[in-house]
Amino acid sequence: MSNIEQTLSIIKPDAVERNLENEIKEIFKINGFKIVKEKKIQIEKTEAEKFYKVHETKPFYNDLCSYLSSGPIVVMVLENDNAVLGNRELMGATNPKEAKEGTIRKKYGISIDKNSVHGSDSLENAKVEIDFFFKD
Ligand code: UDP
Ligand code: MG
Repeated sequence: MSNIEQTLSIIKPDAVERNLENEIKEIFKINGFKIVKEKKIQIEKTEAEKFYKVHETKPFYNDLCSYLSSGPIVVMVLENDNAVLGNRELMGATNPKEAKEGTIRKKYGISIDKNSVHGSDSLENAKVEIDFFFKD
């Protein structure tokens, strides 16, 4: 049985800066993801703080929010069968050094903080994150 879902993906500043936008989008498409919405934006640090609020008590929170707002990002709604989990698998582990061969973070990630992509971690968070960027 098919289970079509939508999830939020972000191509982070380190990847946009290295002109990896099209390569990464190609990887999503080859793996069956449809990019149903997308925009290239730069966000304020205060917006990054809201987006990553779940991490506000973590030691890396401040740097993370500075980083996400440091340059252009590409925000996308991806649609696929089991998109949420499928995207997490395709992205690979948070730390690129631990990411499996063939994953986006293994291929492009620089470090645990500059790991090239974001992906929603649950269907519930996917809805919240899609609304965050695309509610109009
Ligand atoms: N992060 C970091 N240091 C850490 C853990 C995470 O800089 O020790 C950053 C990293 O960019 C990561 C983001 O914070 O993608 C959100 O962390 P999370 O644990 O939610 O990882 P993800 O869901 O992105 O794999
Ligand atoms: Mg996360």
